[in-house]
Amino acid sequence: MAIKIALAGNPNSGKTTLFNVLTGSNQFVGNWPGVTVEKKEGRLKGYKDVTIIDLPGIYSLSPYSLEEIISRNYLLEEKPDVILNIIDGTNLERNLFLTTQLLDMGIPVVAAVNMIDVVEKAGDVINLEEMTKALGCKVLAVSALKGRGVREAAETAVRASVQAAGNIPCVFSAPVERALDKITALLGDRVPQTQGRFCALKVFERDAKFAEKISLPGAEALIQEAENARGDDAETIITEERYHYITGILPKLLKKKPRGTLSPSDKIDRVVTNRFAALPIFAVVIFLVYFISVTTVGTWVTDWTNDGLFGEGWHLTGGGAFVEAMEAFEAGGLAEEPAPEDFGLWAPGIPVVVGGWLEAAGTADWLNGLILDGIIAGVGAVLGFVPQMLVLFIFLAALEACGYMARIAFILDRIFRRFGLSGRSFIPMLISTGCGIPGVMASRTIENEHDRRMTVMTATFMPCGAKLPIIALISGAVLGGTWWVAPSAYFLGVFSVILSGIILKKTKIFAGDPSPFVMELPAYHLPTVTNILRSMGERVWSFIRKAGTVILVSAVIIWFLSSFGFTGDGFGMVEDLNQGLLAALGGAVAWIFTPLGFGTWDATVATITGLVAKENVVGTMGVLYGYAETAEDGAEFWDAFAANFTVISAYAFLAFNLLCAPCFAAIGAIKREMNNAKWTWFALAYQTAYAYVAALVIYQLGTFFSGGGFGAGTVFGFAAVALLAYLLVRKPAGKTKPAETSRRAAV
Ligand code: GDP
Ligand code: MG
Repeated sequence: MAIKIALAGNPNSGKTTLFNVLTGSNQFVGNWPGVTVEKKEGRLKGYKDVTIIDLPGIYSLSPYSLEEIISRNYLLEEKPDVILNIIDGTNLERNLFLTTQLLDMGIPVVAAVNMIDVVEKAGDVINLEEMTKALGCKVLAVSALKGRGVREAAETAVRASVQAAGNIPCVFSAPVERALDKITALLGDRVPQTQGRFCALKVFERDAKFAEKISLPGAEALIQEAENARGDDAETIITEERYHYITGILPKLLKKKPRGTLSPSDKIDRVVTNRFAALPIFAVVIFLVYFISVTTVGTWVTDWTNDGLFGEGWHLTGGGAFVEAMEAFEAGGLAEEPAPEDFGLWAPGIPVVVGGWLEAAGTADWLNGLILDGIIAGVGAVLGFVPQMLVLFIFLAALEACGYMARIAFILDRIFRRFGLSGRSFIPMLISTGCGIPGVMASRTIENEHDRRMTVMTATFMPCGAKLPIIALISGAVLGGTWWVAPSAYFLGVFSVILSGIILKKTKIFAGDPSPFVMELPAYHLPTVTNILRSMGERVWSFIRKAGTVILVSAVIIWFLSSFGFTGDGFGMVEDLNQGLLAALGGAVAWIFTPLGFGTWDATVATITGLVAKENVVGTMGVLYGYAETAEDGAEFWDAFAANFTVISAYAFLAFNLLCAPCFAAIGAIKREMNNAKWTWFALAYQTAYAYVAALVIYQLGTFFSGGGFGAGTVFGFAAVALLAYLLVRKPAGKTKPAETSRRAAV
């Protein structure tokens, strides 16, 4: 018999961690019926027909958020056989609030007190027997992270699924219980018998979503009777009595070790979320992450892939001797340039090896070109940046896992609430740093329609993983690996999200109070190596997969269009790429980018192919600048590329490509989330216009202030700044009032 286990618990209680442990890799992700919120299902490892469903994280079963509605509809309609309730043991009081509600559902409940490792480390003791008694359901201690007790919890749930739900604890006062009994009787067989109590509670609370389905006119008098007896409104009575019950049993359940008032996490937060220090710390952290991954450590490794693997090759031994000989040669002490093969063990790079094969096979010129200058050049140029991406993703995964990312949303919320921006909009922004698609999708949880649309429009300003090669290329090739380039790409993204947010909020279409934002800051903890590696592995793997598919096909097309054209003898391969079809196509629209400093056909083509996938910007440049052919080492491709740009035009090129309309996949996500063609086009037009203005300002003002003279472009540059400044400070069209940020979850 198939068994369904529903995992329910507060956000951050460890559900996903537990889910991953229990299901291993047997999981399928889909959407909840009717709503586009992610649904995760998986098979319990070791069992044929036990399915586990990871419900959205919720604080209660009231109808106040999409997550809550989804969870309770699932529990009521799909009737899982058992609920495995994950309780964050470090936060019993808040977590038990949900538990008391789950117990009312008429479904067997097994409670797993998670984070037991943290509880024990703090020296606290949770009395599981007392808890079993107080709740009337099985209670176990687990640590999802360490894998402790996890198996037992699942097995207990499987066993509980065939038993009847336990006895419901007496949570409510006599007047309320009386009313509930009578309402249950009134409901009769209009609801399944096991759900009688839960439905009666919802009727009692005057739950609007519930009233849509079942109206029970006779109940109102009963509710009012209880309200009069308790002197409050029905919903408040229920909430208060639940809390009253929990605070009553808590001393028996939890023996806290006496300690100072501040936990280590609170102490860290005192500094990290400090009113004055928070932003500088945020800036330093991000600076270090990008500086280290793109500029220092990343570059060392990337040199190895760019010069070695996808270049001429590299020394396994004797590299030092070769460098010395090279230096001697350059200083004029050697007559002949030393050949790297003569110094120790030499491993040839992929282009050299493949070039050798092709030569031996005597393939046609065009085929050699296609393979070496098209495929290897384009795909290799992109894959060469994998090491930098690895390092960056390790950092980002660590920051997220340790709990710092959550703080950033909190800090930004506190500052920008005044301007009508909510921390809810910053979370998609943080997610977009990995990939814009989940970033855009994360906007789903924002209920305020204006804020949600605005967030969808701005989330992709952040530099996602695919934009990293562009950043690294510009930083390495044109700007000589200058320290500020890579971090500035991140800050440009954050700045654009905030600036756009403020500007858009002042328009009539987006006006309104900022969405409420309540978040529980998870306690800091050391991330585990496996978790970080898993998250990094997923991202890097999807990048490599893309290089083998989309980027590869694009490289072939770019190679074909650029190497063929109409010459004196008709259509055929051209000597000079400037005579190719692509040069003609790109050249026809390149003027659009002239005011931005990069109105060349190749930069134009690269930008346009970036719409297919942002990696293509680098892949295209790889093909056009003969990455494989000239690449004695990657540096030649870099030099050839750099010759087309000045420092300022390169940065403008970077800015435009980071900010303009995202790749097709992300555009697809925007379209799904907007669910409206007009809004989708509006979003794309806004992004591209914003990118254009930003790149214009960078190029024109940069040129002017570096002594490049004054021209018509300069006037437009300054006009754009003035326009942005006006949009930024003008009076809002609608009213927005600042609201307080709350750090605790509202229940
Ligand atoms: P969800 O929001 O309920 O899905 O929670 P997650 O599974 O994402 O977990 C939230 C955080 O708590 C993650 O950083 C986990 O690594 C961490 N975590 C989960 N379970 C445990 C545990 O048993 N012990 C410790 N120390 N951390 C845990
Ligand atoms: Mg989760």
